[in-house]
Amino acid sequence: MTDEQKNNNPYFLKSLHQVKVTDIKVGEVRRHISILGAGESGVGAAVLAKKQGFEVFVSDYGVIKQENKDILDKYNIQWEEKQHTEEMILKADEVIKSPGISDKTPIVKKIAEKGIPIISEIEFAGRYTDARMICITGSNGKTTTTMLTYHILKNSGLNVGLAGNVGNSLAMQVAEYNYDYYVVELSSFQLDGMTKFKADIAILLNITPDHLDRYDYNFQNYIDSKFRIVQNQTEKDAFIFWSGDKVIQEELKKRKIKSTLYPFSLEKTEKSKAFIENNQLVINTLNNSLIMPTTKLSLKGIHNTYNSMAAALAASVINIRKKSIRLSLQDFHQVEHRLEYVATVRNVVYINDSKATNVNSCWYALQSIQSPVVLILGGTDKGNDYSEIEELVKEKVTALIFLGADNSRLHAFFDGKVEKIVDVKSMEECVKTAYELADPGETVLLSPCCASFDLFKNYEDRGDQFKKYVRNL
Ligand code: ADP
Repeated sequence: MTDEQKNNNPYFLKSLHQVKVTDIKVGEVRRHISILGAGESGVGAAVLAKKQGFEVFVSDYGVIKQENKDILDKYNIQWEEKQHTEEMILKADEVIKSPGISDKTPIVKKIAEKGIPIISEIEFAGRYTDARMICITGSNGKTTTTMLTYHILKNSGLNVGLAGNVGNSLAMQVAEYNYDYYVVELSSFQLDGMTKFKADIAILLNITPDHLDRYDYNFQNYIDSKFRIVQNQTEKDAFIFWSGDKVIQEELKKRKIKSTLYPFSLEKTEKSKAFIENNQLVINTLNNSLIMPTTKLSLKGIHNTYNSMAAALAASVINIRKKSIRLSLQDFHQVEHRLEYVATVRNVVYINDSKATNVNSCWYALQSIQSPVVLILGGTDKGNDYSEIEELVKEKVTALIFLGADNSRLHAFFDGKVEKIVDVKSMEECVKTAYELADPGETVLLSPCCASFDLFKNYEDRGDQFKKYVRNL
């Protein structure tokens, strides 16, 4: 981008990402910051807070990784592990909480009772940078879209950081680097701790029930959390969203959103800024009008077409050249554990979609597969409603394998609906069973609808084990 283009581009004009730095009243200075959780985001927040002159105390109820302890020590930051010392934590003027810690934990309740503001690392980091923020949320597709957007911006030569759920902590990057742009993946938990932060470009991919255990089993609470992505936006800011999503449609009717809207959808509508027409992806913004055949998109499947549209719209809004956007959409590599092809053994295709930790992502996986499927489900059920995949399961699934410590909810829903159902307790047993059940021409799909913590370290571990045993077949 030339300097002239930058000067004429409202999205390049620098401004703080807060309405104000904080609500500090005259004469009042926030000096103490307590940080709950010494993972990547907590440690990043601690380093930034220290550099900004705060008294910092980090407390983790679990064991802190050695490398994180080393960083905290290097910056002379006080920390504790395996406990929460209340009198130290409650001294704070503000608490930065890791998104993984629920509001229902006793220490968080005590902090709230004392009226101490609790914020997320992203909210804190936003105060100390005037870089342009492209923020991505949704129930599914966040990581893919974040990586793809980052890929397009980086390939076009912009000075850009990758932050949030994927990538490094935003606070650490703000403390250590000087990026002009950040592409930030935001979960609902991070958004819950954000009040003044503003995204210059907000992307909302979709909303389907997820994490309801953390939202009092009330879907609206979760929807409200997702819509925080547009809070504080003005008409100078961009809101990119999937206009085909029923939940988003209903919510837009209820809210007054000031942002400039960039809806995308498969079908062209009067308002859509990105759509598919005659097998061509069309992006239409004031800055850019781009057309490319959908067959050239590196990411396959309808869900990924949405993700490509969202990323391309963001790139177009910041005026990246269309040739550069097109090339990046073509040469991007699929992210591991998301509908990842593993191998074909005896004419059976094995696909690792271990990141499908909710029902909707499994729906897209099933929908994108043409052959009959042996489907592997199970793990930690977060209050799932399996009726969303019922039709597709009846239509495509020849056998179900339940891989979980407790499969009772799966049995309650699927028993009698699929002829063959087998319970397994390890990935080795699971792959062996799949191998026995699948006929040539079928696909074995690991797309579990559930979190992995009952039997695995995390979804990566689950996907890695799946790939290992498949490759050993
Ligand atoms: P997230 O970071 O939101 O969990 P990922 O990009 O990691 O999203 O993908 C998670 C799962 O959702 C994968 O199984 C993937 O195939 C599926 N998925 C990706 N994009 C979408 C989308 N736009 N809509 C529905 N499912 C999607």
